[in-house]
Amino acid sequence: MLKVENIDVFYGNIQALREVSLEVNEGEIVTLIGANGAGKTTLLKTLSGLLKPKKGKIEYLGNSIAGKAAQGIVKSGISQVPEGRRVFANMSVEENLDLGAYLRKDRDGIKRDMERVYELFPRLLERKSQSAGTLSGGEQQMLAMGRAIMAKPKLLLLDEPSMGLAPLMVQTIFSIIKEINEAGTTILLVEQNAHMALSVAQRAYVIETGKVVLSGDAKELQESDEVRAAYLGGL
Ligand code: ATP
Repeated sequence: MLKVENIDVFYGNIQALREVSLEVNEGEIVTLIGANGAGKTTLLKTLSGLLKPKKGKIEYLGNSIAGKAAQGIVKSGISQVPEGRRVFANMSVEENLDLGAYLRKDRDGIKRDMERVYELFPRLLERKSQSAGTLSGGEQQMLAMGRAIMAKPKLLLLDEPSMGLAPLMVQTIFSIIKEINEAGTTILLVEQNAHMALSVAQRAYVIETGKVVLSGDAKELQESDEVRAAYLGGL
């Protein structure tokens, strides 16, 4: 579904990604794990059209999308939940969800997806008229995910959904990630919480200072000495 081949991405003269290659197949949850500053967000921003690779290829459903405008990429079915959630604080929960569907015209489909979001996140239904800025961190994460679902993505890009959340909320968010995937959405999940990410993903890539250093089956990586020492606190 998504094939990234040898991309280099720069911020001015600073190189943030070096010959990064990865693949996501339809139906999978693939995770990209790595420490602070490794280049995870940079990769997602490149996939969603906010940054342009200097070199390399990005193919999505057989078409090249490297350097394409962000709006066109959303239209083609890729939707991103940014790091730090970024909901529209002064708008209500429901208005935020509506905005997620702004490129769609299928009113019945939009209504069905809104119901589905409220089924996945009953907490949002209880708070649908509340302004988004007054939601808790976990609720804002739910809203950011709900808004991305409203775009009806084929491929959902999640940037550190566990960041700053209490352990119980992290578990809730991850079980919803699994549910969204089981209902047919392919997911690329970027995480520092390697333990949780490797437990929901089928395959994983490890990125260090802009380079993919390891990749493979998530369960196998979870058991590898290298990953355990560096990312799982020696567990
Ligand atoms: P974190 O988990 O801390 O969000 P990350 O893996 O997502 O980290 P990125 O945000 O992709 O890391 O950053 C990769 C590198 O690019 C870092 O060295 C960072 O300082 C640099 N970088 C990110 N954004 C910019 C920018 N706008 N201008 C210059 N350098 C940047």
